[in-house]
Amino acid sequence: MKKGYIGIDIGSISTKGVVVDSNKKIVASDYLWTEGDPMNAVKRLLKSLEKQIKGKDIQVVGVGTTGSARKLIGAVTNASVVKNEITAHAIGTTTLYPDVNTIFEIGGQDSKIIIIENGYVVDYAMNTLCAAGTGSFLSSQAHRLGVSVEEFGSIALTSKQPTNIAARCTVFAESDLVHKAQMGHKKEDIIAGLCKAVVSNYLNNVGKGKRIKAPIVFQGGVSKNIGVKKAFEDQVGCEITVDANGHLMGAFGVAILAQKSGIERTFDFNITALDFKTKGFECPKCANHCEIMCVYRDNRLIDSWGNKCDNGAIRVN
Ligand code: SF4
Repeated sequence: MKKGYIGIDIGSISTKGVVVDSNKKIVASDYLWTEGDPMNAVKRLLKSLEKQIKGKDIQVVGVGTTGSARKLIGAVTNASVVKNEITAHAIGTTTLYPDVNTIFEIGGQDSKIIIIENGYVVDYAMNTLCAAGTGSFLSSQAHRLGVSVEEFGSIALTSKQPTNIAARCTVFAESDLVHKAQMGHKKEDIIAGLCKAVVSNYLNNVGKGKRIKAPIVFQGGVSKNIGVKKAFEDQVGCEITVDANGHLMGAFGVAILAQKSGIERTFDFNITALDFKTKGFECPKCANHCEIMCVYRDNRLIDSWGNKCDNGAIRVN
């Protein structure tokens, strides 16, 4: 029987998971919505992964977790490795692209930039507060324009004259978009303008002051949008690589780390419902009023998530 390693990347919006074999090949994967319930999302994910590896003669011997609810899911799955997203993404990407120098990542709700030198992370930045450069912003604007997120990128590529959209924040972008549509700008030009705005927003915020050097790999859910990829290439002036599994890179990276850890224990897909208690509250520290969720086992805090900045972080000892 071959050995397999599970990687789980659990965020507030989406949950990603892979099983890799000992040759670092992805043999099963899934991407689903967290729907505010990470425990349930992981149960659904594990069911799907188990089904996919059935009959493949694979025994899972290690689990790694990353993402905002990584500690909770790490405790539930008895993970051998629990790592932050920067490390997980960097390991996943450098495993597939050893020469990479810059990683652009745009997910559903946040974005990151990771600078690599000789295979090691030397600098990074994350943006969780500004939604104007993320996947959820693009989906809401696609909806507003009456097009699906899937066709968004290809429509953008048909534009000859992208509209200039002010995208410093979602409120500006939305009102500017309505204004430009009323002025008679073509739909494809507005869509291409939005892709351009997402990229400018990213480069001027998360990428500000960073050394951006080729080869560049672009990943996260938004990397599937060919309009945004093209806008990046136009603005940074070089070709950018998008891996077919770029949306799973965090999960892939942490599965590789689980393999590297050397800690092996047979994984039981039927994780027992442990006695977890959850308690939610609103962070009072600023007008965002983030909904923070804390999870306890035996009155001990296991994990917390939902804070958009460090000021609202609840430390787990
Ligand atoms: S966690 Fe608290 S301080 Fe930070 S953005 Fe949310 S509400 Fe504001």
